[in-house]
Amino acid sequence: MEYQKPKGTADLLPGTTNLWEKVEEVAREVFDQFGYRGIRTPMFEDYNVFSRNVGDTSDIVEKEMYDFHDKGDRHIALRPEGTAGVVRAYVENKLYGPEYPKPYKVYYMGPMFRYERPQSGRQREFHQIGVEALNNESPQIDVEVIAMAMQLFKRFGVPNVKLTINTLGDKQVREDYREALINFLKPHYDELSSDSQERMYRNPLRVLDSKDAGDQKIVAQAPSILDYLDEESQNYFDQVQSLLRELGIDYEIDTNMVRGLDYYNHTIFEIMSDSPVFGGGYTTVCAGGRYNGLISQLGGPEEGGIGFGMGVERLMLLLQEENPEFAPQDQLDVFFASANEDGDNLAFKILNQIRDKGVVADKDYSGVKVGKQIKEAFRRNAKYFAVFGEREVDEGQFQLKNAATKDTIDVKIADFVAEPTKYLR
Ligand code: ATP
Ligand code: MG
Repeated sequence: MEYQKPKGTADLLPGTTNLWEKVEEVAREVFDQFGYRGIRTPMFEDYNVFSRNVGDTSDIVEKEMYDFHDKGDRHIALRPEGTAGVVRAYVENKLYGPEYPKPYKVYYMGPMFRYERPQSGRQREFHQIGVEALNNESPQIDVEVIAMAMQLFKRFGVPNVKLTINTLGDKQVREDYREALINFLKPHYDELSSDSQERMYRNPLRVLDSKDAGDQKIVAQAPSILDYLDEESQNYFDQVQSLLRELGIDYEIDTNMVRGLDYYNHTIFEIMSDSPVFGGGYTTVCAGGRYNGLISQLGGPEEGGIGFGMGVERLMLLLQEENPEFAPQDQLDVFFASANEDGDNLAFKILNQIRDKGVVADKDYSGVKVGKQIKEAFRRNAKYFAVFGEREVDEGQFQLKNAATKDTIDVKIADFVAEPTKYLR
């Protein structure tokens, strides 16, 4: 029997995980600076946490959900995204109480599941790094969240990304616009792609970001949501824009941009890259927006929130292409080779003592010829190496070799284990 990973999943092997871990580390630093704290919610939730039967239905909920009935006949779904689960936890744990900070800022990193057609940068199990700022309705928070996302790309060493924003207004605006859009699309029904025909009544806004060239020609003439904003929504959007300009953050407005999930309103944004690694055109790596109304839909108070999710697989493709140096190289401070069994035993003992003092060290375990062991020291990128044999055991000292300069010094074993970092600079 030969086993294979499920379709649309990936094994992340050492070598690749270096980059992932570095990304996570830098993201945590940035989140910390902005006052966000980690949250870990279940990988699966009650199906209804994601499917709330309100408003338009999204493809994610309708077609892409990994859901099943468990042995107790509970309808369960693997999470397709992070926000709904975080909001469920926020409400269930009453984190809106007076003893908690406002906004309540959290970040998460982890796998998400969507039943999609796998292709480059699109999997069935994929990963997101995301944030949520709950319990606030202020354009400053929208801009802080966007600024933080842009800061992440800068710190990852890929600052050449495009920020696109739009507004979906409030509930009334969206309803008015939805109607206008359906009226506009109706006479074009026969010309639309079958996907868009299907979406026209289910989720007409989604037709706006159809990837079909014919659809795109039609929707280019569609009414703009900006013409349907009421005063409050217009003000909110104006403030977001003026704050972005104040912070010197470049952006474009794309009135045809919508989001795949139904709960967004007011500010939405995407950060895209046209790196050749994505094979032409702009690909969205990070997407987010405001979701006033979601917290109350999940049983909490009437408060707003905003967040984003960054697709880690797409970010990795981008980094490997645009900033391959970002991944730290595997490196050892020192590698021990040995010429005989006594030497090997001594090396084993010293290794344990210096690791205890924080040194990154390893030794040969294969017992091959000394020359081959030294080759391994270079392959492992060791800064120093040493060979232990009869003489080292008898004399209690050894030669420490600098792999780059080939400089060699005699070191007493007792001195070395007492203060190894003094010798391994
Ligand atoms: P798309 O239009 O590309 O399907 P979406 O609207 O479904 O995007 P979101 O739900 O906003 O995407 O997710 C945010 C980010 O997560 C995306 O911009 C992308 O980088 C990443 N992402 C979404 N689905 C997948 C997937 N199946 N595989 C890998 N990454 C994904
Ligand atoms: Mg999608």
